[in-house]
Amino acid sequence: ISTENRFKYLIIGGGVAAGYAAREFVKQGLKPGELAIISKEAVAPYERPALSKAYLFPEGAARLPGFYVCVGSGGERLLPEWYMEKGIELILSTEIIKADLDSKILTSATGMKFSFETLIIATGSRAVRLTDFGVHGADGKNIFYLREISDADKLVEEIRAKKTGKVVVIGGGYIGLEVGAAMRINKFDVTMVYPEEWCMPRLFTREIASFYEGYYANKGIKIIKGTVAVAFDCDAYGEVKAVKLKDGTVLEADIVVVGVGAKPLIELFKGQVDEAKGGIKTDGFFATDDPDVYAVGDVATFPVKLYSDMRRIEHVYHARKSAEQAVKAIKASEEERSIPEYDYLPYVYSRAFNLSWTFYGDNVGDPVLFGDNNPASAKPKFGTVWIKNGKIVGVFLEGGTAEENKAIAQIARVQPPAEKYLSRLRKGSYFFA
Ligand code: FAD
Repeated sequence: ISTENRFKYLIIGGGVAAGYAAREFVKQGLKPGELAIISKEAVAPYERPALSKAYLFPEGAARLPGFYVCVGSGGERLLPEWYMEKGIELILSTEIIKADLDSKILTSATGMKFSFETLIIATGSRAVRLTDFGVHGADGKNIFYLREISDADKLVEEIRAKKTGKVVVIGGGYIGLEVGAAMRINKFDVTMVYPEEWCMPRLFTREIASFYEGYYANKGIKIIKGTVAVAFDCDAYGEVKAVKLKDGTVLEADIVVVGVGAKPLIELFKGQVDEAKGGIKTDGFFATDDPDVYAVGDVATFPVKLYSDMRRIEHVYHARKSAEQAVKAIKASEEERSIPEYDYLPYVYSRAFNLSWTFYGDNVGDPVLFGDNNPASAKPKFGTVWIKNGKIVGVFLEGGTAEENKAIAQIARVQPPAEKYLSRLRKGSYFFA
């Protein structure tokens, strides 16, 4: 291995976590040439959530360099020049196909070899594809997924080429909901299809979902629930013309967008590091059982101190924070210092149309709805608290201000007794005001 391919620190993956890790390395003190980031993507780390939101807008669309990390958290925007100035090697358009953790060597698809002293695994996830399940016609040319910027570019090209027509969105998670909204804003005729009884079932209660489903219906989006796509009918050019559903419905389609979940990319490390709950098992410093290998972001299954539980979390805030924690821990161990264990409060958000929701904490126990969840209201604002053992353990809020969102984070963290808040909620006032 040539000296130029030997690094003290190597990050595999060039997404959200990689970008925030690079910034933290610089904060902690980094010498030129010590750090490299290897990414299969052609661009420097960016804020991935933009891809299903403003990236797809017909006007004023987000484009790079606008959303390079770390703008998503109100931080400095790290342009490609920033990495150069700091002596960080950005090795782009390079896919690693082999990782040998014992000999500390990564090998790329073109046979390049890279060695490291400390490795951070930040490979994130890939979109689950309908071809994974052998759905007939799932390789149709006009079926789109959203994970990387190249996926979003293909969808944008298709939006511009087709201009109008029918879009079928498969999946009722946050990607389905955001893309459904974006396609409607692009004036397509949108139908969403998902198998569950309501959208975002892992987080939303029926009452929360009924607001969003009603709101989407008012925007002209059709929703078909409780069924799945079983086949795509393609024409002679391999273009999907119709989507067949299990319940017998046939939907005409000009564009199909699929958002049916993600799978963490950990195959390269199978058998070399411990796993838990579908991810790479780490401690509260994101170290794996190999002391020179860390795992952060979507791939890490780590201890959530607040709930005494091991979890894997696919959200951007955790990608940022886990990356910072791992770098702090690496630096601290070199200097024989100790740092506090990761203490993460689960946090999810999404935005679509003029809506914006935030959730903090754990959605376990009994949910109690508050506020105005009428989708026809001029300015709907509502939320839900989850109560477990008499304490508030999770809070969801639609339409909250920055201060209110801060307040609900505090509540989810402190877990106050529910009783006094409930009486205020019953009187119709926002308990966190
Ligand atoms: P990623 O950001 O996915 O980065 C992984 C990187 O590793 C990619 O660049 C990939 O190309 C690269 N890579 C993988 N394998 C290899 C390899 N073998 N060789 C080289 N490079 C490799 N979360 C929220 O909380 N709120 C949101 O609103 C939200 N919106 C989202 C919208 C979309 C469209 C998507 C896809 C995700 C969204 N998320 C959202 C989730 C969030 O973006 C992820 O949790 C976060 O990006 C994870 O960061 P990561 O660094 O672990 O992985």
